[in-house]
Amino acid sequence: MASSFIPINKPIMGDEEVEAVKQVIASGILTDWRPQGGPMNRRFEECFASFIGVRYAVAVSSGSAALHAALLAAGVKPGDEVIVPAFTFPATANMVLMAGAKPVFADISTETYNIDLESVKKLISARTKAIIPVHLYGLPADMDPVMELAEEHGLMVIEDAAQAHGAKYKGRYTGTLGHMACFSFYPSKIISTGEGGMVTTNDEELALKLRSIRTHGQVKGFDSKILGHNYRMPEIEAAIGLVQMKRLPGFLEARRRNAKLLTEGLSDLDELKLPVEPPGLNHCWYLYTVRLTKRQYLRDLIVKRLNQAGIGAAIYYETPVPLLPLYSRLRRRSTYLNAIVASRSVFQLPVHPGVSEEQALNITKEVKKALT
Ligand SMILES: *Cc1c(COP(=O)(O)O)cnc(C)c1O
Repeated sequence: MASSFIPINKPIMGDEEVEAVKQVIASGILTDWRPQGGPMNRRFEECFASFIGVRYAVAVSSGSAALHAALLAAGVKPGDEVIVPAFTFPATANMVLMAGAKPVFADISTETYNIDLESVKKLISARTKAIIPVHLYGLPADMDPVMELAEEHGLMVIEDAAQAHGAKYKGRYTGTLGHMACFSFYPSKIISTGEGGMVTTNDEELALKLRSIRTHGQVKGFDSKILGHNYRMPEIEAAIGLVQMKRLPGFLEARRRNAKLLTEGLSDLDELKLPVEPPGLNHCWYLYTVRLTKRQYLRDLIVKRLNQAGIGAAIYYETPVPLLPLYSRLRRRSTYLNAIVASRSVFQLPVHPGVSEEQALNITKEVKKALT
């Protein structure tokens, strides 16, 4: 592979993060078991909450931990069902299993790749407790109708915003739209702390529960009242997160610029369906997703050719979650044809802030070559 290989995503950190880590080590405060967390956790949480405009943010050890903690806080338990999209990173559904409940798979739209409301409606049963819409690839799911439906049936809505830091729905940031929302700071995500996650909510009671769940359900120490786990974020990571928050607006701008360049360069290819940004929605361009509308059998070959040309094109995701081995024994009562279509025809192009304008233009040239 060429030495200038452009990966599909890559964290951007610098001297400021190094300095922040050094300061935490020098302070000697590496973590704090109490529900309110250590000083860096609190600063990162306050910064994150005020950026997106939500009352509470609770830092945890990963995006998956965020989902599990949110499900526990929502009171999801064995016997309950949680509706999730069939097309997402498996963690969304895995954490439902981890809470002892059953994921029920809704279909998606092949236009936005987000959860399809009509499909959700058909899956609501007496056991349904929650819905987890995923803002896939950084495009917000259509939340208003989901919230209306949830209200009607008394369901909790947990946004999976792991890919959607800085995305907006009708002027509001993702993470402020459901009853709770979960973010990830894994290295490929919009901002990173190495590993890490955040749960956001406007509900004080849920926030208190989440703080306790991330530290074994304790409040004053050795007094577990509810089931929790050790889902605390180390102070070193929170310090990195605080620096990354300063970089976030610049990251979002660079992603938007690159997405625009890719769209301009690829718009004349009628075999490619380019990503959409419906009116009123702001994509944060976590992944630039294209879909082959013809000759879908060529997808893997095209990705391979791009990789050989130094472009880290990738496929998110090759298998709908309910078709993964883990879910083979789960009784399936849903259909998710669009998820299957998407899994066979999408691929992603690098759009992250490390991609220069020149590289973005080159990516469009190489895609054209690979298609012919
Ligand atoms: C990354 C991701 C997660 C899990 O986050 P981790 O920090 O890797 O545990 C969950 N859902 C989606 C949609 C993700 O992309």
